[in-house]
Amino acid sequence: MNSSRTNLLNFDAAKMAEYVAGLNEKPFRAKQLLQWVHQRGVSDVALMTDLAKSFRHQLAQEADVISLPVIQDMKAGDGTRKWLLDVGAGNAVEMVYIPEDDRGTLCISSQAGCAVNCRFCSTGHQGFARNLTPAEIIGQLWFAEHHLRDDPHAIRRLDDDCAEQAQGRVITNVVMMGMGEPLLNYDAVLVALRLMLDDHAYGLSRRRVTVSTSGVVPMMDRLAQDCPVALAVSLHAPNDALRDELVPLNQKYPLKELIAACDRYLPFAPRDFITFEYCMLDGVNDQDQHAKELIKLLKGLRCKLNLIPFNPFPASGLKRSPAERVKQFAQILQDADLVTTVRKTRGDDIAAACGQLAGDVIDRTRRAERMQALNEQVIQFQGR
Ligand code: SAH
Ligand code: SF4
Repeated sequence: MNSSRTNLLNFDAAKMAEYVAGLNEKPFRAKQLLQWVHQRGVSDVALMTDLAKSFRHQLAQEADVISLPVIQDMKAGDGTRKWLLDVGAGNAVEMVYIPEDDRGTLCISSQAGCAVNCRFCSTGHQGFARNLTPAEIIGQLWFAEHHLRDDPHAIRRLDDDCAEQAQGRVITNVVMMGMGEPLLNYDAVLVALRLMLDDHAYGLSRRRVTVSTSGVVPMMDRLAQDCPVALAVSLHAPNDALRDELVPLNQKYPLKELIAACDRYLPFAPRDFITFEYCMLDGVNDQDQHAKELIKLLKGLRCKLNLIPFNPFPASGLKRSPAERVKQFAQILQDADLVTTVRKTRGDDIAAACGQLAGDVIDRTRRAERMQALNEQVIQFQGR
């Protein structure tokens, strides 16, 4: 894309209104544009037939709708789908679509790499490359929704929450659990979240949009004010000593501050509880004692615990807790009335877990080779 051109995917309603005003058009044109782009998935302004010809002509001169190029598109036996997306400079991010009977969940990325560097996370091991732009974040939903709508095998769902826009929708839930720490790319993520909720764009209810964070405390407070969607907090340890090691951000925002921030978020939370994610690491954080500490830590807080089977990767030196251990750990928590679930692993045959596939690309090839491979493989999804 020519950098002097405008990518319309960068604009939420307020920004689109500003843009349209700058072109001396009436405010309702902004809504029409959002609908064409996000609801109908149209990227060619020539097809936006209820806009005046002169306006279409002007848009064609300077604006585009462009999402990240797809490098690879994989389907697992269970219907899980994973795309690897090119973010340039030899880096890639991923997104995953998980179909279930009553919903379709899209897991999207917010950064290329991640600076938090959690010990068990292959995205963290890659280091931080760059923040994604709003267009690159919402463009994942834009691409997946409209691409899947065209797929005759995709399941279309009717969603009671938001009747009209939901007719025939494929993606009913979005989780920011792909690559990156969303709250360290706050401004861009906020634009994307607002579009997810906007009735002229995707019209998802706040309960169906989840931000997952490793615990960027000040940004949790801002999110509560700006756009309080469902919140998942990556906990992974019941005490500061262990969490300092597993989630280095804990050294900056220790557990006491994190739990207090969760408490402050709750009055704004659309689901009346916070979800805590806890990746089960063999012999590291999965002992009975850890479960007992967790019960103490979370006492009195409205929350649910989601135990995640660790997806091993060689550089981590860590192992997945045995299923029996996870079961016993969950039982201790449940006996203390903590709502606890164990996450199903999905799409195992295409490594559909956080950071795994992009991690593979980066592990296997050197930077220059990677660049070349990306350039060769890139498929531009610019129009439809
Ligand atoms: N940065 C945010 C969101 C992206 S990570 C966060 O940390 O919450 C999304 C989830 O995947 C987090 O709960 C993270 O802890 C988990 N995760 C990361 N690496 C994993 C691995 N190898 N196996 C299982 N879960 C992992
Ligand atoms: Fe970053 Fe989340 Fe991975 Fe930690 S788990 S390194 S915060 S992406």
